[in-house]
Amino acid sequence: MAAVQLSGIFKRYGDIQVVHGIDLDIDDGEFVVLVGPSGCGKSTLMRMVAGLEEISGGDLMIGGTRANGLAPQQRNISMVFQSYALYPHLSVYENIAFGPRIRKEPVANFKPRIEAAAKMLNLSGYLDRLPRALSGGQRQRVAMGRAVVREPSLFLFDEPLSNLDAKLRVQMRTEIKALHQRLKNTVIYVTHDQIEAMTMADRIVVMNAGRIEQIGRPLDLYDRPANLFVASFLGSPSMNFAEGIVTAGAQGPALKFGDGVEVALPGAVAAEAAPGAKLTLGVRPEHVELDVAGSGNGGNDTATAMDIEVVEPTGAETHLYGKIGGSTWCVTTRRRAAFEPGQRVTLRLPAEHLHLFDTESGQRIA
Ligand code: ADP
Ligand code: MG
Repeated sequence: MAAVQLSGIFKRYGDIQVVHGIDLDIDDGEFVVLVGPSGCGKSTLMRMVAGLEEISGGDLMIGGTRANGLAPQQRNISMVFQSYALYPHLSVYENIAFGPRIRKEPVANFKPRIEAAAKMLNLSGYLDRLPRALSGGQRQRVAMGRAVVREPSLFLFDEPLSNLDAKLRVQMRTEIKALHQRLKNTVIYVTHDQIEAMTMADRIVVMNAGRIEQIGRPLDLYDRPANLFVASFLGSPSMNFAEGIVTAGAQGPALKFGDGVEVALPGAVAAEAAPGAKLTLGVRPEHVELDVAGSGNGGNDTATAMDIEVVEPTGAETHLYGKIGGSTWCVTTRRRAAFEPGQRVTLRLPAEHLHLFDTESGQRIA
C-alpha cells in the first residue's frame, strides 16, 4: 500500500495550461475522491499519476519514491476506467488473469487470487462467460477484478460508474466502498457526481478549472464550504443564494436584498461587515423552515414570504420553488401538506444555518 504526494503538479499541452499547481497529500489506505465539473482536469491529473501522461512540472511521490519518470508498469498502480476495456474474445477468467499472464506468473501462483477476487465480486459463476454475455454491472466488476488481482499499492478509478443505470450505480458505489474496507488500499476516485463523492470519500478534493477549490471530509465541506463554488457544487438540490448589500438595520447590521428583504447578520459577521459591502447569503434547501402557521419563534431568525411557483413531490420529500432576493430558491419539506403554485408561505432562515460569502471574491466570511 502507498501514500501519494502531489506537490505543485501542473500540466501543459503546448501553450495551454490545464492543471495549475496541484498540492495534495494522500495517506496510505485513504479513499480520496476528486470531484469537479467536466473539463476541470480530473482525468489529466489521474493519467499523470498513472504514468499515461507526462507531468509538465512538480513532484509526484508514490510510496515515498519519486515517480515522475517511472513507466506505468513500474508504479504498481491499477486503473479502472469508465469504459471497462475488457477483451471481448476472452472469458471473464482470462480477462481477470490478463495481467499475471502478461507477466508470465505461474498459474498456481495467480489462480487462487483470481478465484478469491471472483468470489469477492460475485463473479464465481461467470468465469467461463464472454463479456458480451454479462450485464453492465458484471462487466464493471470484471474490470475491478482485473485491477484487484494485480494487488496494486494504489487504485485509480476514473468515473467507473458513469455508464451504468442509476440503480446499479448506487449498488456498485456500495460495493466499491465495501471492497476498499476489506482491502484497505489507497484509492483515488474521480467523478463529476457530487453524491458519489459525498457517499464514498474519506476526503473530497473539489476541483475547478485545473485548481483545487477545497479539500476536506465530506460533511465538513458540506457544512463549511470555503467559497461559492464549493457551496453550489455540493448538495442536491443545490444551496440557495441571494446577493445583498450590508446596511445599518434598525436592529443592527443586516443584509438587504434587491427585493427589499433584510436578513440580520450573525454577530461575528456583523462586527466585520462594512455598510455597503456586497455579500451573498447561502442557505441549504433543507435548512429553510416552512412557517405554515405564521407563528414564528421570535429570536433573530429572519422570516420572509415566498410565493410558490413550482411544487415537486419526490415521495420522501417535496421541493417548493419560488423567488427570494431575485433568485430562484428551493425549499425541501417532509410535510405532506397540499402545496400549490400561487400559495404564499413564510420561510424562516435559522441564523445557525446561514452561510455568507464575499460576492466579488466568492470566499466564505468568518
Ligand atoms: P475532466 O476529466 O475533469 O473532465 P480532462 O482532464 O479530461 O477533464 O481535461 C481537462 C482539460 O484539458 C480540458 O479542457 C481538455 O480539453 C484539456 N485536454 C485534455 N487532453 C488534452 C490534449 N491531449 N490536448 C489538449 N488539451 C487537452
Ligand atoms: Mg475525465
